[in-house]
Amino acid sequence: MAQPASPDADVHWLLEAISLSRRCLPSATAFSVGAVLVAADGTVLSAGFSRERDPRDHAEESALARLGIPGDRTAGDRTAGDRTAGVRAAGVRAAGGTGYRSGSGSGTAADLAGATMYSSLEPCASRASRPVPCADLIIASGIGRVVIAWHEPPIFVPGGGAARLREAGLTVMVIPELAAAAQAVNAHLLS
Ligand SMILES: [Zn+2]
Repeated sequence: MAQPASPDADVHWLLEAISLSRRCLPSATAFSVGAVLVAADGTVLSAGFSRERDPRDHAEESALARLGIPGDRTAGDRTAGDRTAGVRAAGVRAAGGTGYRSGSGSGTAADLAGATMYSSLEPCASRASRPVPCADLIIASGIGRVVIAWHEPPIFVPGGGAARLREAGLTVMVIPELAAAAQAVNAHLLS
């Protein structure tokens, strides 16, 4: 199971995810979201934000793609070997985009079980842009813990990502004190 991070660490990394969300290209039809994946020892394994490389990109999906976990494959397609190879490659790929580096040798499957995905918005449980929602990608990755600032309002798709994660055995924490900060970049969608 994932190790509980300290409350201070959770706030720090969720603020980092919120900061990344401000780098999203503005959209009238999708939320701006940032995500940071942090190992139990505090190492940043990956990060991403909405529409980072493609208009369809979701933040969590983009972060997982850096670890070699693509969004267009289902959990059953992926083996532990694939994941390890992808994580090694992520050390190179993560040098772009967000500026986060993946430490070589980190990011094994065991790291992911102890890792926390910080997302400025609840991971999606359904989506219009690609077939696999982020909640399912996170579950398939083996990540043990997710920390979010707020739940997705049912504007574009129904929410429910946090419930799906919990049903799969993941720990989900909400830090409502940071909801306003996470919503600010999306104010035009919420009015
Ligand atoms: Zn998503």
